[in-house]
Amino acid sequence: KLHNQVQELKGNIRVFARVRPALAHESGDPEALADIAYGDERLAQETGQSQIVVTSRTESATGQQREQINNFTFDKIFAPNAGQKEVFEEISMLAQSVLDGYNVCIFAYGQTGSGKSWTMEGGQNDQDAGMIPRAIEMIFAVSNGLRDRGWKYQMEGQFLEVYNEVINDLLGNGQFDTKKHEIKFDKDGKVTVTDAVSIPLSNPRQVSTLLERARSRRAVAATLMNERSSRSHSVFTLKVRGENPLTNERCEASLNLVDLAGSERLEKSGAGENKDRLKETININKSLSALADVIGALGQGREGGHVPYRNSTLTRLLQTSLSGSSKTLMMCNLSPLSAHLGETLCSLRFATKVN
Ligand code: ADP
Repeated sequence: KLHNQVQELKGNIRVFARVRPALAHESGDPEALADIAYGDERLAQETGQSQIVVTSRTESATGQQREQINNFTFDKIFAPNAGQKEVFEEISMLAQSVLDGYNVCIFAYGQTGSGKSWTMEGGQNDQDAGMIPRAIEMIFAVSNGLRDRGWKYQMEGQFLEVYNEVINDLLGNGQFDTKKHEIKFDKDGKVTVTDAVSIPLSNPRQVSTLLERARSRRAVAATLMNERSSRSHSVFTLKVRGENPLTNERCEASLNLVDLAGSERLEKSGAGENKDRLKETININKSLSALADVIGALGQGREGGHVPYRNSTLTRLLQTSLSGSSKTLMMCNLSPLSAHLGETLCSLRFATKVN
């Protein structure tokens, strides 16, 4: 019960953390793993929130060990052994609410290599499937079930990328997107993107084809632009339109699944040597902090007040889906390695800022 109250107070914004497991080549040396502890079950039961405790050790110039314990609270924490199914169970209701007319945004945040794409897209086997295929599969299944009650749904998929504040259509024709896409408001005041392709979907298998098409486009761009996919935000949108002639009801909403650009700071990306990289990094930082500001403002119930959507392309693009009665989930992805501890702490602080 308390859990629900917490959610309501926070205006439907949830923040989760997920620590990925060490990969085969990383796990040999126990020293390689950061000291991360997972909050106690009882606290979670009582408050509906859980804690992650990260201990960092630094050595002073005189050789003295200093230990610092850092505590962070989340709505839910997934330890490295949590599988995709377990993670999806916590997201399923949220994703499903798009069929009730709620706009939903699910973000994966974290440094490159922390498991964002794994969380969103996942691996090839069914058990490894990530949140996008699972959400789509479930939404189609639930919408079919609602047919008995008179509901008919139309679905469309859109897949955009925001790179250096510019929108590219991952579903456009040809190998490259040569169109200039602008963000506009339609007659109902909803955000639309000019010349962006939306593909009608009648079953979940068509979504896999769509994701495949987007992936191959990103791959072409990546070879040309040096791992561009980790430097851009990708936004998959399922647009859902429902109609019930029996009850004369209608609803329209979008589910947005967003794989954010890597949050790592300048040094790690080697940006120092390269002007283009520097520009990318500045744009990423700008858009990630704009996103945190928007979610932070919404979380404080400033819906009637000023929410700074205009400060980045990503927040402008998602404005309709972030405002009003919409539901937002930020998944903070974390690496388990001690070599990444600095970035891990930065990610945790970022996530606590929106929490
Ligand atoms: P990012 O998208 O943040 O750059 P990835 O999703 O590509 O990171 O993850 C980095 C590597 O870790 C990949 O090889 C991925 O398959 C693996 N990985 C990430 N999370 C998990 C997980 N929960 N279980 C197994 N492997 C994972």
